Amino acid sequence: MTHIDPMSRRGFLVGLAGTALAVGVAQRVAAAEDHDGDTVTSAQSLRWLRRGNARWVRRDIKRADHTPPYRDITNGQWPIASVVSCADSRVNAESVFDVAQGNLFNVRNAGNVGGDISIGSIEYSVGVLKVPLLVVLGHSSCGAVVAAQRALRTGEMPGGDIDAVVEAIIPAIERLPVNHTLEQAIEANAAHTARLLRRNSRIIDSAVSRGRLRIMSAVYDIRSRRVEFATRGRSIGGM
Ligand SMILES: [Zn+2]
Repeated sequence: MTHIDPMSRRGFLVGLAGTALAVGVAQRVAAAEDHDGDTVTSAQSLRWLRRGNARWVRRDIKRADHTPPYRDITNGQWPIASVVSCADSRVNAESVFDVAQGNLFNVRNAGNVGGDISIGSIEYSVGVLKVPLLVVLGHSSCGAVVAAQRALRTGEMPGGDIDAVVEAIIPAIERLPVNHTLEQAIEANAAHTARLLRRNSRIIDSAVSRGRLRIMSAVYDIRSRRVEFATRGRSIGGM
């Protein structure tokens, strides 16, 4: 090994280059652990969401940023998951999963249902942005599900275009026992939307079939702040 006087200009530059190289390698190693290029697996994405929700539960908010370290969200987006959630003001996914801007591709509507516009939005995130995970997130005390239960029991519709929301939820709950609980209806509605998204979209279905996308349903409990993912057998596809 050639001796370099550390005080010489050359030695100083070599030292600097070595430090820069070491930092660069360390950054790449850290990036490689989390990201394979821009690709994140559904398992990694799910781990981040679970960990983020655990922080949200214990009020240890970090707003973890999972954008690849060599990427800048002013030049594009690299979301780790798509989340279909309710328009309810208490159910914003970045908070619930404690992640930063740019991490989640959000589709929101009353009752987290899957109409054409929702599907088109998700198809963009799956086909173009290549998200590995799609989560349909129902939540406790969902007024849209309550309205659908009422419509089913009494035949009373809420009126206006809210009827479209209720009509989208009814097929999810009409096969439940007559005396089903609100919790069961909320869970069934999220699972129904998850199935429907795959059934009604060739882009989503083909991504699942090729192992590029996993679909899961989950329920967020506003009181405990906890997200409960549906058990493995009920998730659709994955890698
Ligand atoms: Zn709701």
